Amino acid sequence: MASIFSKIAAGEIPSYCCAADDEFYAFLDINPIVKGHTLVIPRREVDYIFDLEDDELARLHVFAARVARAIKQTIPCVKVGEAVLGLEVPHAHIHLIPMQSERDMLFSNPKLQLPAEEMQAVADAIRANFQG
Ligand code: AMP
Repeated sequence: MASIFSKIAAGEIPSYCCAADDEFYAFLDINPIVKGHTLVIPRREVDYIFDLEDDELARLHVFAARVARAIKQTIPCVKVGEAVLGLEVPHAHIHLIPMQSERDMLFSNPKLQLPAEEMQAVADAIRANFQG
């Protein structure tokens, strides 16, 4: 059975799309730690990120870097942090988190609940800044 993230990348489950190409897909985390918290996935379904082929892992990171630049242009922040957990969803993904301080990277922080219109506006702005 396809993972929830495969269904998102295929457009079968809605998401706030931030960037996409033939191989990778980026969308807002539905339970963001901070505004602009984004997930980047390969369309190919592999559970553990470090089981990806070397080339695919490298391309995923290059794509994530392009998404991170678009996030930084969209959300005022010091830097965009990167984290890999994968404890909840068994489909490799990178978290991109616009940081004001180290505390913004704490996954134990309470999650934000942003209105759908605000999530859509953030995703649209990141997509507009993404250099495709
Ligand atoms: P982890 O697998 O531990 O890296 O966590 C999975 C992340 O995916 C969590 O931050 C969730 O909030 C996020 N997530 C789960 N389902 C969705 C969804 N349908 N759309 C966007 N983000 C999701």
